[in-house]
This record gives sequence, structure tokens and C-alpha cells, in this order.
Amino acid sequence: MFNSLSDRLTATFKNLKGKGRLSEADIDGTAREIRRALLDADVAVPVVREFIAKVKARALGAEVSEALNPGQQVVKIVNEELVGILGGETRELRFAKQPPTIIMLAGLQGAGKTTLAGKLAHRLKSQGHTPMLVACDLQRPNAVNQLQVGGQKAGAPVFAPHPGVSSEAETPTGDPVQVARDGVAEAQSKLHDVVIIDTAGRLGVDQELMDQAANIKSAVGAHEVLFVIDAMIGQDAVATAQAFDEGVDFTGVVLSKLDGDARGGAALSVASVTGKPVMYASTGEGLKDFEVFHPDRMARRILD
Ligand code: GDP
Repeated sequence: MFNSLSDRLTATFKNLKGKGRLSEADIDGTAREIRRALLDADVAVPVVREFIAKVKARALGAEVSEALNPGQQVVKIVNEELVGILGGETRELRFAKQPPTIIMLAGLQGAGKTTLAGKLAHRLKSQGHTPMLVACDLQRPNAVNQLQVGGQKAGAPVFAPHPGVSSEAETPTGDPVQVARDGVAEAQSKLHDVVIIDTAGRLGVDQELMDQAANIKSAVGAHEVLFVIDAMIGQDAVATAQAFDEGVDFTGVVLSKLDGDARGGAALSVASVTGKPVMYASTGEGLKDFEVFHPDRMARRILD
């Protein structure tokens, strides 16, 4: 009957009509409901704890307003706090004053970086930009090919260490930092206004690859570093995001695989521990399964 968090919160307050202020006891029942909803949405435990403390502090002693009943009032506070943590406004890419704008993708292996490169290129092309992709994931045998396929679908050229990696003698080797530099130089000479650099990832956080990503970032002076994270990652979101934030100081987050069962709690976890905005959501394997992230819609997804 009371399936949504909004309904459950409103229900916990149904006997409070006419009270002047919300009390500790009133808030406790609410806190339990919020905790359950956030954990169900896969928000990391420490983030849930901090979130509830904030909501409680705001709700405690708040005047019960004339216009809203106490339940609605707490729902409003929860909603505002969720949207605030998720970055408030929708944030799109910032373009460099002097092109090309250099966007670098970072994240664990399998997070969805290479897929995202094609999607971003497709989106940028539809906005009139002329993106070029640069293949710096030289760890995963098929990554260069995969990027080439994505680039082809999106209609964007791909700069790779050498043309084609089909023959065994031509497995992608070389220095990813140099490939990034060469790729940017090529983009400049061919007047591409955006460069998207795909980088290598490991199944777990790996210092050597983190250093490599940081070196690529500084070698090319990346304007945006997008941290791509699988929405299904659950409780590991916090540690992974912190490691990448320390390693490459990313500028924004892309939540991938939001088409799966995940309710998107990872977005809240990552945004909460790093303070960085979630900018885009990936919602499938196709080029168009990609959208600007709306903090208010995600808040509603968690509340409903
Ligand atoms: P990378 O190792 O970070 O470059 O990850 P990939 O781009 O290769 O993606 C790993 C797998 O996840 C591939 O099979 C992709 O097709 C798939 N994938 C990527 N993004 C999404 C998404 O938003 N939704 C779904 N369902 N699958 C995705």
C-alpha cells in the first residue's frame, strides 16, 4: 500500500496533526524509513548515515508549517538534500575557450568507458561538434578495436597507436601517454574541436594504471575527466570513487548501466564522498542510450 518512500514518510506522521514542532521521537520513525529506502537503492552505508544525520538536524525543531503536513515537510527536506548532494543543477560539459576541448575517460575495467566514448562522440556530433577519439587503453586486447567500431558508428575518427590491430604482430603496445599526446596533436592539425581519450582500467583499483591516467591527464591538459562507474557497483562505490578522485581528480561522473536493476544509489554515494557532480547516465549498449543526468529525477527515483 505504502510503496514509495514519500508515502511511507507521510504515513509515519499521520498522527502528528496540530503539533507545533517536530520532536526527536517523531523524526526517529522517519529516519528508519529513509535508511531502509536508501539502503534498498544501494546507497553506501556511511553515506546513508551522514544523510540521515543531516535530514534529522534540519527536521528537528522545524516549525510545522501551515501549508504542509509534517510528513510532506520531511519529504521536502529529504528531496532537497538528495538533489543538493547530487549536484543541484544538471551540469553539461565545459568547453575550452581555445579548442580542442580534451575529455578523458577513467574508471574500472568494464565500467563502460569505451562504450561511452562512442556515445559522447555521437551526442557531440549531433550538437555540431567535430570530435575525435583517441585509443589509450592499450591493456585490454580488444579495446582499440572496440573504440574503432564505436567511432565508426558515431561517425567520428579514431586515433590509435597504429592502424588496425588485427594481426597478431600488431597487438596494441606503446606508451599510452605518448599516444594521448600524438592524438591531441593530430586532432589539432585536423581541426577537431573535441578530443575524447579512452584510458585503461583494471578490475580493481591499480596504482600503476592510476599513475598512467594521471600522467595522461597532465600531459594533454585534459579539461574534463569523466569518471565512469557502473550503477550496479553497490557498496564498493565509495572506495572506488575515492581512489579515482585522489588519483585523477575527476571533474564529473558518468553513471553507466542505469538500465539494469540498480536504483542509482551509487550516484548518491559517489557525489556525496567526492562532491563531484553526476553529469550523464548511460542506459544501454546502443549509441543513443545516453542522457544528461537530472539530480531531481534521480531524487524522485529514490523517493518513489
Ligand atoms: P570499459 O572496460 O570501461 O571500456 O567498458 P566497456 O565500454 O567495454 O563496457 C563493458 C560492457 O558493458 C560492454 O559489454 C558494454 O556493452 C556494456 N555496457 C556499457 N555501458 C552500458 C550501459 O549503459 N548499459 C548496459 N546494459 N550495458 C553497458
